[in-house]
Amino acid sequence: METEFRLLVAGFCIVAPSLLFVGFVRLLDAMREDDLVERVLDRVDEGGGPTGTAVDPTTFLRSAREKSRRRTAVCRECGVPNAADGGRCGLCGATLR
Ligand SMILES: [Zn+2]
Repeated sequence: METEFRLLVAGFCIVAPSLLFVGFVRLLDAMREDDLVERVLDRVDEGGGPTGTAVDPTTFLRSAREKSRRRTAVCRECGVPNAADGGRCGLCGATLR
């Protein structure tokens, strides 16, 4: 009797994880939103969107560097980069061009 019980427990321990895994995969598959997947794939195919994931990192870095360069003005007195719209240097107080 005890041997049969042990064999039953061993069989359960062998089979249960596989069944749970298959059930989990089926559950995830049933929960999948096909509309959302289609929308995301369409956006990736379009490319070039400002928030898309298909943006090339080098072009993104280059454009970001140009934008930051456009917005900053280097102080003539101390050489610290400041915001271009600010009238005075944040460090030494000299007037910016
Ligand atoms: Zn300065």
